[in-house]
Amino acid sequence: MLTAAVATRRPLLPVFVLDPETEAIGAAAKWRLGLSLAAFADALAGIGLRLTLRRGPALATLEALVAETGAGGVWWSRLYDPEAVARDTGVKAALKTAGVEAHSFAGHLLHEPWDIETGDGGFYRVYSPFWKAMRSRQIPAPAPAPALSLAPLAAHGTGPAPRSDRLADWRLGAAMNRGAAVVERHQAVGEAAARARLALFLSGPVARYSEDRDVPGLPATSRLSENLTYGEIGIREVWHGGLRAREEGQPGAEHFLKELAWREFAYHLVHHTPHITRANWRPEWDGFPWHGDSPDAERWRRGLTGEPFVDAAMREMYVTGTMHNRARMIAASYLTKHLMTDWHVGLSWFADCLTDWDPAANAMGWQWVAGSGPDAAPYFRVFNPAGQAEKFDADRAYVGRFVAELAPHPGRDALDYFAAVPRSWGLDASRAYPAATIDLAEGRARALAAYAARKT
Ligand code: FAD
Repeated sequence: MLTAAVATRRPLLPVFVLDPETEAIGAAAKWRLGLSLAAFADALAGIGLRLTLRRGPALATLEALVAETGAGGVWWSRLYDPEAVARDTGVKAALKTAGVEAHSFAGHLLHEPWDIETGDGGFYRVYSPFWKAMRSRQIPAPAPAPALSLAPLAAHGTGPAPRSDRLADWRLGAAMNRGAAVVERHQAVGEAAARARLALFLSGPVARYSEDRDVPGLPATSRLSENLTYGEIGIREVWHGGLRAREEGQPGAEHFLKELAWREFAYHLVHHTPHITRANWRPEWDGFPWHGDSPDAERWRRGLTGEPFVDAAMREMYVTGTMHNRARMIAASYLTKHLMTDWHVGLSWFADCLTDWDPAANAMGWQWVAGSGPDAAPYFRVFNPAGQAEKFDADRAYVGRFVAELAPHPGRDALDYFAAVPRSWGLDASRAYPAATIDLAEGRARALAAYAARKT
Protein backbone atom coordinates (compact mmCIF):
# COMPACT_ATOMS: atom_id res chain seq x y z
CA MET A 1 0.00 0.00 0.00
CA LEU A 2 2.71 2.43 1.05
CA THR A 3 4.83 1.60 -1.98
CA ALA A 4 1.89 2.28 -4.28
CA ALA A 5 1.00 5.50 -2.48
CA VAL A 6 4.58 6.74 -2.65
CA ALA A 7 4.70 5.90 -6.35
CA THR A 8 2.03 8.52 -7.01
CA ARG A 9 4.64 11.14 -6.00
CA ARG A 10 1.94 13.12 -4.23
CA PRO A 11 2.32 14.41 -0.67
CA LEU A 12 1.26 11.85 1.92
CA LEU A 13 -0.64 12.35 5.13
CA PRO A 14 -0.57 9.28 7.41
CA VAL A 15 -3.88 9.03 9.28
CA PHE A 16 -5.37 6.75 11.91
CA VAL A 17 -9.12 6.96 12.47
CA LEU A 18 -10.50 5.63 15.74
CA ASP A 19 -13.94 4.70 14.51
CA PRO A 20 -16.78 3.26 16.64
CA GLU A 21 -16.02 -0.31 15.47
CA THR A 22 -12.44 -0.02 16.68
CA GLU A 23 -13.52 1.67 19.90
CA ALA A 24 -15.66 -1.39 20.62
CA ILE A 25 -12.79 -3.92 20.69
CA GLY A 26 -11.79 -5.60 23.94
CA ALA A 27 -9.99 -3.84 26.78
CA ALA A 28 -6.57 -5.43 26.29
CA ALA A 29 -6.55 -5.15 22.51
CA LYS A 30 -7.60 -1.52 22.66
CA TRP A 31 -4.89 -0.71 25.18
CA ARG A 32 -2.30 -2.60 23.10
CA LEU A 33 -3.45 -0.71 19.99
CA GLY A 34 -2.54 2.50 21.82
CA LEU A 35 1.01 1.24 22.39
CA SER A 36 1.25 0.28 18.76
CA LEU A 37 0.03 3.67 17.58
CA ALA A 38 2.55 5.45 19.79
CA ALA A 39 5.38 3.34 18.34
CA PHE A 40 4.10 3.93 14.81
CA ALA A 41 3.89 7.68 15.36
CA ASP A 42 7.49 7.65 16.64
CA ALA A 43 8.68 5.69 13.61
CA LEU A 44 6.97 8.12 11.25
CA ALA A 45 8.41 11.09 13.11
CA GLY A 46 11.83 9.56 12.47
CA ILE A 47 11.30 10.06 8.74
CA GLY A 48 9.75 13.47 9.07
CA LEU A 49 6.06 12.54 9.01
CA ARG A 50 3.38 13.13 11.59
CA LEU A 51 0.62 10.62 12.25
CA THR A 52 -2.70 12.45 12.25
CA LEU A 53 -5.16 10.98 14.73
CA ARG A 54 -8.89 11.51 14.38
CA ARG A 55 -11.85 9.98 16.15
CA GLY A 56 -15.29 9.42 14.65
CA PRO A 57 -17.16 7.36 12.06
CA ALA A 58 -14.70 6.36 9.34
CA LEU A 59 -16.44 7.93 6.36
CA ALA A 60 -17.39 11.25 7.95
CA THR A 61 -13.92 11.61 9.45
CA LEU A 62 -12.16 10.90 6.18
CA GLU A 63 -14.50 13.21 4.27
CA ALA A 64 -13.69 15.99 6.72
CA LEU A 65 -9.96 15.42 6.30
CA VAL A 66 -10.27 15.39 2.54
CA ALA A 67 -12.16 18.68 2.68
CA GLU A 68 -9.57 20.23 5.02
CA THR A 69 -6.50 19.13 3.10
CA GLY A 70 -7.69 18.89 -0.49
CA ALA A 71 -6.42 15.28 -0.56
CA GLY A 72 -7.14 13.57 -3.86
CA GLY A 73 -7.34 10.04 -2.57
CA VAL A 74 -7.47 7.70 0.41
CA TRP A 75 -5.31 4.56 0.50
CA TRP A 76 -5.47 1.75 3.02
CA SER A 77 -4.58 -1.84 3.73
CA ARG A 78 -7.55 -4.21 3.73
CA LEU A 79 -9.01 -6.01 6.74
CA TYR A 80 -11.25 -9.05 6.35
CA ASP A 81 -13.59 -9.48 9.31
CA PRO A 82 -17.26 -8.84 8.49
CA GLU A 83 -17.52 -5.53 10.36
CA ALA A 84 -14.40 -4.11 8.71
CA VAL A 85 -15.51 -5.28 5.28
CA ALA A 86 -18.93 -3.64 5.68
CA ARG A 87 -17.37 -0.39 6.88
CA ASP A 88 -14.64 -0.23 4.25
CA THR A 89 -16.93 -1.16 1.37
CA GLY A 90 -19.23 1.72 2.34
CA VAL A 91 -16.31 4.13 2.69
CA LYS A 92 -14.90 3.19 -0.68
CA ALA A 93 -18.21 3.58 -2.52
CA ALA A 94 -19.01 6.93 -0.89
CA LEU A 95 -15.55 8.39 -1.52
CA LYS A 96 -15.66 7.37 -5.15
CA THR A 97 -19.13 8.85 -5.56
CA ALA A 98 -17.74 12.09 -4.16
CA GLY A 99 -14.95 12.04 -6.75
CA VAL A 100 -12.20 11.05 -4.29
CA GLU A 101 -9.90 8.19 -5.23
CA ALA A 102 -10.18 5.22 -2.88
CA HIS A 103 -7.71 2.33 -3.07
CA SER A 104 -7.42 -0.65 -0.78
CA PHE A 105 -4.53 -3.09 -0.83
CA ALA A 106 -3.64 -6.58 0.32
CA GLY A 107 -1.07 -6.78 3.10
CA HIS A 108 -2.58 -8.30 6.24
CA LEU A 109 -2.50 -11.82 4.77
CA LEU A 110 -0.29 -13.88 2.49
CA HIS A 111 -3.17 -14.48 0.08
CA GLU A 112 -6.48 -12.83 -0.48
CA PRO A 113 -8.95 -15.21 1.20
CA TRP A 114 -10.83 -15.71 -2.06
CA ASP A 115 -7.72 -16.53 -4.10
CA ILE A 116 -7.35 -20.10 -2.87
CA GLU A 117 -10.06 -22.26 -4.36
CA THR A 118 -10.91 -25.93 -4.50
CA GLY A 119 -10.78 -27.69 -7.87
CA ASP A 120 -14.41 -26.81 -8.55
CA GLY A 121 -14.05 -23.17 -7.54
CA GLY A 122 -15.42 -23.56 -4.01
CA PHE A 123 -13.74 -22.93 -0.67
CA TYR A 124 -11.98 -25.22 1.76
CA ARG A 125 -13.70 -26.39 4.92
CA VAL A 126 -10.81 -28.56 6.02
CA TYR A 127 -7.33 -27.34 6.80
CA SER A 128 -5.12 -30.10 5.28
CA PRO A 129 -6.21 -29.67 1.66
CA PHE A 130 -6.15 -25.89 2.16
CA TRP A 131 -2.53 -26.16 3.26
CA LYS A 132 -1.75 -28.44 0.30
CA ALA A 133 -3.22 -25.86 -2.07
CA MET A 134 -1.41 -23.00 -0.36
CA ARG A 135 1.96 -24.59 0.23
CA SER A 136 3.19 -24.53 -3.34
CA ARG A 137 1.99 -21.03 -4.20
CA GLN A 138 4.62 -18.38 -4.66
CA ILE A 139 4.56 -15.54 -2.19
CA PRO A 140 6.47 -12.44 -3.29
CA ALA A 141 9.23 -11.27 -0.99
CA PRO A 142 8.29 -8.17 1.03
CA ALA A 143 8.82 -4.95 -0.87
CA PRO A 144 11.69 -2.85 0.44
CA ALA A 145 10.54 0.00 2.66
CA PRO A 146 9.95 3.14 0.61
CA ALA A 147 11.11 5.30 3.51
CA LEU A 148 13.67 7.33 1.60
CA SER A 149 11.14 8.81 -0.74
CA LEU A 150 8.66 9.62 2.01
CA ALA A 151 10.33 12.64 3.55
CA PRO A 152 10.72 14.66 0.36
CA LEU A 153 7.13 13.89 -0.59
CA ALA A 154 5.91 15.08 2.78
CA ALA A 155 7.84 18.28 2.33
CA HIS A 156 5.70 19.07 -0.71
CA GLY A 157 2.65 19.27 1.56
CA THR A 158 0.38 22.23 1.09
CA GLY A 159 -0.23 24.49 4.06
CA PRO A 160 0.00 23.61 7.75
CA ALA A 161 -0.51 20.04 8.92
CA PRO A 162 -4.13 19.32 9.85
CA ARG A 163 -5.13 19.16 13.48
CA SER A 164 -4.48 15.85 15.23
CA ASP A 165 -6.04 14.44 18.40
CA ARG A 166 -3.66 13.61 21.23
CA LEU A 167 -3.30 9.86 21.65
CA ALA A 168 -3.36 10.18 25.44
CA ASP A 169 -6.76 11.92 25.24
CA TRP A 170 -8.27 8.80 23.69
CA ARG A 171 -7.60 6.89 26.93
CA LEU A 172 -7.37 3.62 25.05
CA GLY A 173 -6.11 1.85 28.16
CA ALA A 174 -8.85 3.06 30.50
CA ALA A 175 -10.56 -0.33 30.86
CA MET A 176 -7.29 -2.09 31.73
CA ASN A 177 -7.09 -0.34 35.09
CA ARG A 178 -4.17 -1.61 37.13
CA GLY A 179 -3.63 -4.60 34.81
CA ALA A 180 -1.84 -2.41 32.26
CA ALA A 181 1.33 -2.02 34.32
CA VAL A 182 1.62 -5.81 34.64
CA VAL A 183 0.80 -6.75 31.05
CA GLU A 184 3.05 -4.05 29.60
CA ARG A 185 6.15 -5.91 30.78
CA HIS A 186 5.31 -8.73 28.37
CA GLN A 187 4.68 -6.70 25.24
CA ALA A 188 7.17 -6.27 22.42
CA VAL A 189 5.79 -3.19 20.71
CA GLY A 190 6.52 -1.87 17.24
CA GLU A 191 8.37 -2.91 14.12
CA ALA A 192 11.87 -3.19 15.56
CA ALA A 193 10.68 -5.30 18.49
CA ALA A 194 8.67 -7.55 16.18
CA ARG A 195 11.67 -8.06 13.91
CA ALA A 196 13.80 -8.89 16.93
CA ARG A 197 11.23 -11.50 17.98
CA LEU A 198 11.32 -13.10 14.55
CA ALA A 199 15.13 -13.08 14.49
CA LEU A 200 15.29 -14.62 17.96
CA PHE A 201 12.88 -17.37 17.00
CA LEU A 202 14.71 -18.16 13.76
CA SER A 203 18.08 -18.19 15.49
CA GLY A 204 17.12 -20.97 17.92
CA PRO A 205 13.63 -22.21 18.82
CA VAL A 206 12.59 -22.91 15.21
CA ALA A 207 14.90 -25.94 15.17
CA ARG A 208 12.87 -27.73 17.85
CA TYR A 209 9.52 -26.09 17.07
CA SER A 210 7.77 -29.37 16.16
CA GLU A 211 8.79 -31.07 19.40
CA ASP A 212 8.49 -28.14 21.80
CA ARG A 213 5.66 -25.97 20.51
CA ASP A 214 3.09 -27.81 22.65
CA VAL A 215 5.00 -27.35 25.88
CA PRO A 216 3.77 -24.12 27.47
CA GLY A 217 6.60 -24.02 29.99
CA LEU A 218 9.18 -23.54 27.20
CA PRO A 219 9.88 -20.39 25.16
CA ALA A 220 9.42 -22.48 22.01
CA THR A 221 7.13 -20.41 19.78
CA SER A 222 7.60 -17.10 17.98
CA ARG A 223 5.11 -15.00 20.03
CA LEU A 224 4.49 -13.01 16.87
CA SER A 225 0.69 -13.20 17.01
CA GLU A 226 0.54 -9.91 18.91
CA ASN A 227 2.72 -8.12 16.35
CA LEU A 228 0.82 -9.59 13.42
CA THR A 229 -2.46 -8.40 14.92
CA TYR A 230 -1.37 -4.76 14.80
CA GLY A 231 0.56 -4.97 11.54
CA GLU A 232 3.86 -4.31 13.29
CA ILE A 233 5.52 -6.89 11.08
CA GLY A 234 4.42 -7.98 7.64
CA ILE A 235 3.22 -11.55 7.28
CA ARG A 236 5.32 -11.92 4.13
CA GLU A 237 8.42 -11.07 6.09
CA VAL A 238 7.56 -13.75 8.63
CA TRP A 239 6.78 -16.27 5.89
CA HIS A 240 10.04 -15.62 4.06
CA GLY A 241 11.92 -15.96 7.35
CA GLY A 242 10.32 -19.39 7.73
CA LEU A 243 11.18 -20.28 4.11
CA ARG A 244 14.83 -19.36 4.66
CA ALA A 245 14.95 -21.50 7.78
CA ARG A 246 13.48 -24.39 5.79
CA GLU A 247 16.09 -23.95 3.07
CA GLU A 248 18.79 -23.97 5.75
CA GLY A 249 17.46 -27.34 6.88
CA GLN A 250 15.92 -26.23 10.19
CA PRO A 251 13.70 -29.18 11.10
CA GLY A 252 10.86 -27.12 12.64
CA ALA A 253 10.56 -24.58 9.83
CA GLU A 254 7.97 -26.47 7.78
CA HIS A 255 5.80 -26.81 10.86
CA PHE A 256 6.09 -23.08 11.53
CA LEU A 257 4.95 -22.30 7.97
CA LYS A 258 2.00 -24.63 8.53
CA GLU A 259 0.96 -22.64 11.59
CA LEU A 260 1.11 -19.40 9.59
CA ALA A 261 -1.24 -21.15 7.17
CA TRP A 262 -3.75 -21.71 10.01
CA ARG A 263 -4.00 -17.94 10.27
CA GLU A 264 -4.72 -17.78 6.53
CA PHE A 265 -7.25 -20.59 6.87
CA ALA A 266 -9.09 -18.68 9.60
CA TYR A 267 -9.53 -15.71 7.26
CA HIS A 268 -10.46 -18.00 4.37
CA LEU A 269 -13.32 -19.29 6.54
CA VAL A 270 -14.31 -15.82 7.73
CA HIS A 271 -14.48 -14.58 4.17
CA HIS A 272 -16.58 -17.47 2.87
CA THR A 273 -18.68 -18.00 5.99
CA PRO A 274 -18.64 -14.73 7.95
CA HIS A 275 -21.16 -16.05 10.47
CA ILE A 276 -18.29 -18.03 12.02
CA THR A 277 -17.42 -14.98 14.12
CA ARG A 278 -20.81 -14.88 15.86
CA ALA A 279 -22.88 -18.05 15.38
CA ASN A 280 -22.41 -21.81 15.29
CA TRP A 281 -20.73 -22.57 11.99
CA ARG A 282 -22.77 -25.77 11.90
CA PRO A 283 -26.41 -24.75 12.48
CA GLU A 284 -27.21 -28.21 13.88
CA TRP A 285 -25.48 -27.01 17.06
CA ASP A 286 -28.04 -24.28 17.59
CA GLY A 287 -30.19 -26.52 19.78
CA PHE A 288 -27.35 -27.80 21.96
CA PRO A 289 -28.13 -27.26 25.65
CA TRP A 290 -25.12 -25.07 26.40
CA HIS A 291 -25.15 -23.34 29.74
CA GLY A 292 -25.04 -19.57 29.58
CA ASP A 293 -22.88 -17.47 31.84
CA SER A 294 -22.74 -18.81 35.40
CA PRO A 295 -20.71 -18.77 38.63
CA ASP A 296 -18.69 -21.70 37.21
CA ALA A 297 -17.84 -19.63 34.13
CA GLU A 298 -16.85 -16.78 36.42
CA ARG A 299 -14.44 -19.09 38.28
CA TRP A 300 -13.02 -20.03 34.88
CA ARG A 301 -12.57 -16.37 33.93
CA ARG A 302 -10.77 -15.68 37.19
CA GLY A 303 -8.43 -18.68 36.99
CA LEU A 304 -9.99 -20.22 40.09
CA THR A 305 -11.47 -23.46 38.74
CA GLY A 306 -9.24 -25.64 40.92
CA GLU A 307 -7.91 -27.29 37.75
CA PRO A 308 -4.22 -26.27 37.72
CA PHE A 309 -3.55 -26.32 33.96
CA VAL A 310 -6.74 -24.36 33.24
CA ASP A 311 -6.03 -21.82 35.97
CA ALA A 312 -2.44 -21.38 34.81
CA ALA A 313 -3.76 -20.67 31.31
CA MET A 314 -6.28 -18.08 32.45
CA ARG A 315 -3.75 -16.38 34.68
CA GLU A 316 -1.14 -16.37 31.91
CA MET A 317 -3.63 -14.33 29.88
CA TYR A 318 -4.19 -11.93 32.77
CA VAL A 319 -0.48 -11.40 33.36
CA THR A 320 0.98 -11.48 29.84
CA GLY A 321 -1.97 -10.62 27.58
CA THR A 322 -1.53 -13.83 25.61
CA MET A 323 -1.94 -17.55 26.20
CA HIS A 324 0.01 -20.49 24.87
CA ASN A 325 -1.82 -22.32 22.06
CA ARG A 326 -2.03 -25.65 23.91
CA ALA A 327 -3.32 -23.81 26.97
CA ARG A 328 -5.97 -22.03 24.85
CA MET A 329 -7.21 -25.41 23.68
CA ILE A 330 -7.32 -26.84 27.20
CA ALA A 331 -8.97 -23.77 28.75
CA ALA A 332 -11.53 -23.61 25.93
CA SER A 333 -12.25 -27.33 26.12
CA TYR A 334 -12.74 -27.21 29.88
CA LEU A 335 -15.23 -24.36 29.55
CA THR A 336 -17.21 -25.82 26.66
CA LYS A 337 -17.06 -29.50 27.61
CA HIS A 338 -16.54 -29.96 31.36
CA LEU A 339 -18.54 -26.85 32.22
CA MET A 340 -20.77 -27.23 29.12
CA THR A 341 -20.71 -23.48 28.66
CA ASP A 342 -21.62 -21.80 25.40
CA TRP A 343 -18.42 -21.01 23.49
CA HIS A 344 -19.59 -17.39 23.01
CA VAL A 345 -18.90 -16.82 26.72
CA GLY A 346 -15.27 -17.86 26.28
CA LEU A 347 -14.85 -16.12 22.93
CA SER A 348 -15.94 -12.82 24.47
CA TRP A 349 -13.63 -13.18 27.45
CA PHE A 350 -10.65 -13.95 25.23
CA ALA A 351 -11.59 -10.98 23.03
CA ASP A 352 -11.56 -8.77 26.11
CA CYS A 353 -8.28 -10.04 27.57
CA LEU A 354 -5.97 -10.97 24.68
CA THR A 355 -3.46 -8.45 23.38
CA ASP A 356 -3.13 -10.66 20.28
CA TRP A 357 -6.88 -10.79 19.74
CA ASP A 358 -7.70 -11.67 16.17
CA PRO A 359 -11.36 -11.96 15.14
CA ALA A 360 -10.75 -14.84 12.74
CA ALA A 361 -8.29 -16.96 14.75
CA ASN A 362 -10.29 -16.51 17.96
CA ALA A 363 -13.57 -17.56 16.33
CA MET A 364 -12.02 -20.50 14.51
CA GLY A 365 -10.21 -21.60 17.68
CA TRP A 366 -13.33 -21.54 19.83
CA GLN A 367 -15.52 -23.29 17.29
CA TRP A 368 -12.81 -25.86 16.63
CA VAL A 369 -12.64 -26.73 20.31
CA ALA A 370 -16.41 -26.58 20.90
CA GLY A 371 -17.05 -28.89 17.95
CA SER A 372 -19.41 -26.49 16.20
CA GLY A 373 -16.95 -25.31 13.56
CA PRO A 374 -15.63 -26.66 10.28
CA ASP A 375 -12.80 -29.15 10.57
CA ALA A 376 -13.50 -29.20 14.31
CA ALA A 377 -12.29 -31.59 16.94
CA PRO A 378 -15.16 -34.05 17.36
CA TYR A 379 -17.25 -33.14 20.38
CA PHE A 380 -16.56 -36.50 22.01
CA ARG A 381 -12.84 -35.70 22.07
CA VAL A 382 -12.78 -34.06 25.48
CA PHE A 383 -9.34 -32.87 26.56
CA ASN A 384 -8.54 -34.04 30.06
CA PRO A 385 -6.71 -31.09 31.63
CA ALA A 386 -4.99 -33.28 34.21
CA GLY A 387 -3.78 -35.72 31.54
CA GLN A 388 -2.72 -32.82 29.32
CA ALA A 389 -0.74 -31.36 32.21
CA GLU A 390 1.07 -34.66 32.74
CA LYS A 391 1.91 -34.80 29.06
CA PHE A 392 2.82 -31.18 28.30
CA ASP A 393 3.76 -29.78 31.70
CA ALA A 394 5.37 -32.80 33.30
CA ASP A 395 7.85 -30.68 35.29
CA ARG A 396 5.03 -28.29 36.27
CA ALA A 397 7.04 -25.35 34.99
CA TYR A 398 3.92 -23.73 33.51
CA VAL A 399 1.59 -24.27 36.46
CA GLY A 400 4.36 -23.19 38.84
CA ARG A 401 5.02 -20.06 36.82
CA PHE A 402 1.45 -18.81 37.00
CA VAL A 403 -0.32 -20.38 39.98
CA ALA A 404 1.20 -18.96 43.15
CA GLU A 405 -0.81 -21.19 45.49
CA LEU A 406 0.78 -24.27 43.90
CA ALA A 407 4.37 -23.00 43.70
CA PRO A 408 6.75 -23.59 46.61
CA HIS A 409 8.42 -20.23 45.89
CA PRO A 410 6.07 -18.19 43.69
CA GLY A 411 7.89 -16.03 41.19
CA ARG A 412 7.00 -12.66 39.77
CA ASP A 413 4.52 -13.87 37.13
CA ALA A 414 2.57 -15.89 39.69
CA LEU A 415 2.39 -12.95 42.08
CA ASP A 416 1.68 -10.45 39.33
CA TYR A 417 -1.67 -12.11 38.76
CA PHE A 418 -2.86 -10.69 42.08
CA ALA A 419 -1.57 -7.26 41.09
CA ALA A 420 -3.34 -7.39 37.72
CA VAL A 421 -6.85 -8.57 38.62
CA PRO A 422 -9.49 -6.11 39.86
CA ARG A 423 -9.20 -5.33 43.57
CA SER A 424 -12.92 -6.07 43.88
CA TRP A 425 -12.16 -9.79 43.40
CA GLY A 426 -10.54 -9.70 46.83
CA LEU A 427 -7.71 -12.08 45.94
CA ASP A 428 -4.24 -12.41 47.37
CA ALA A 429 -1.53 -15.04 47.25
CA SER A 430 -2.11 -16.19 50.82
CA ARG A 431 -5.48 -17.80 49.97
CA ALA A 432 -5.67 -21.58 49.67
CA TYR A 433 -5.94 -22.98 46.15
CA PRO A 434 -9.64 -23.63 45.39
CA ALA A 435 -11.21 -27.08 45.29
CA ALA A 436 -12.06 -28.44 41.83
CA THR A 437 -15.20 -26.90 40.31
CA ILE A 438 -16.21 -30.23 38.85
CA ASP A 439 -14.93 -33.78 38.99
CA LEU A 440 -13.28 -34.32 35.59
CA ALA A 441 -14.84 -37.72 34.92
CA GLU A 442 -18.26 -36.41 35.92
CA GLY A 443 -17.93 -33.34 33.71
CA ARG A 444 -16.85 -35.44 30.77
CA ALA A 445 -19.73 -37.88 31.24
CA ARG A 446 -22.25 -35.01 31.49
CA ALA A 447 -20.97 -33.43 28.27
CA LEU A 448 -21.04 -36.72 26.38
CA ALA A 449 -24.55 -37.51 27.61
CA ALA A 450 -25.80 -34.14 26.34
CA TYR A 451 -24.08 -34.79 23.04
CA ALA A 452 -25.62 -38.26 22.72
CA ALA A 453 -29.08 -36.91 23.59
CA ARG A 454 -28.74 -34.23 20.95
CA LYS A 455 -28.08 -36.84 18.27
CA THR A 456 -31.06 -39.05 19.04
P1 FAD B 1 3.51 -19.62 16.81
O1 FAD B 1 3.40 -21.04 17.26
O2 FAD B 1 4.85 -19.02 16.79
O3 FAD B 1 2.84 -19.56 15.36
C1 FAD B 1 3.18 -18.53 14.43
C2 FAD B 1 1.92 -17.79 13.99
O4 FAD B 1 1.04 -18.68 13.31
C3 FAD B 1 1.10 -17.20 15.12
O5 FAD B 1 1.64 -15.98 15.57
C4 FAD B 1 -0.26 -17.06 14.47
O6 FAD B 1 -0.34 -15.91 13.66
C5 FAD B 1 -0.32 -18.28 13.57
N1 FAD B 1 -1.01 -19.38 14.25
C6 FAD B 1 -0.46 -20.35 15.01
N2 FAD B 1 -1.41 -21.20 15.44
C7 FAD B 1 -2.59 -20.75 14.96
C8 FAD B 1 -3.94 -21.20 15.06
N3 FAD B 1 -4.28 -22.30 15.72
N4 FAD B 1 -4.91 -20.47 14.44
C9 FAD B 1 -4.60 -19.35 13.74
N5 FAD B 1 -3.33 -18.88 13.61
C10 FAD B 1 -2.34 -19.57 14.20
N6 FAD B 1 -4.46 -16.55 17.62
C11 FAD B 1 -4.44 -15.21 17.50
O7 FAD B 1 -3.52 -14.66 16.86
N7 FAD B 1 -5.42 -14.42 18.06
C12 FAD B 1 -6.47 -14.96 18.77
O8 FAD B 1 -7.35 -14.22 19.23
C13 FAD B 1 -6.49 -16.38 18.94
N8 FAD B 1 -7.46 -16.97 19.67
C14 FAD B 1 -7.46 -18.33 19.84
C15 FAD B 1 -8.49 -18.93 20.59
C16 FAD B 1 -8.51 -20.30 20.77
C17 FAD B 1 -9.64 -20.93 21.58
C18 FAD B 1 -7.51 -21.11 20.20
C19 FAD B 1 -7.53 -22.59 20.40
C20 FAD B 1 -6.50 -20.53 19.44
C21 FAD B 1 -6.46 -19.14 19.25
N9 FAD B 1 -5.42 -18.52 18.50
C22 FAD B 1 -5.43 -17.16 18.34
C23 FAD B 1 -4.41 -19.32 17.80
C24 FAD B 1 -3.08 -19.56 18.54
O9 FAD B 1 -3.33 -19.98 19.86
C25 FAD B 1 -2.15 -18.34 18.57
O10 FAD B 1 -2.02 -17.82 17.26
C26 FAD B 1 -0.76 -18.71 19.06
O11 FAD B 1 -0.83 -19.25 20.37
C27 FAD B 1 0.12 -17.48 19.05
O12 FAD B 1 1.38 -17.75 19.61
P2 FAD B 1 2.69 -17.59 18.72
O13 FAD B 1 2.67 -16.30 18.01
O14 FAD B 1 3.84 -17.87 19.62
O15 FAD B 1 2.49 -18.78 17.69
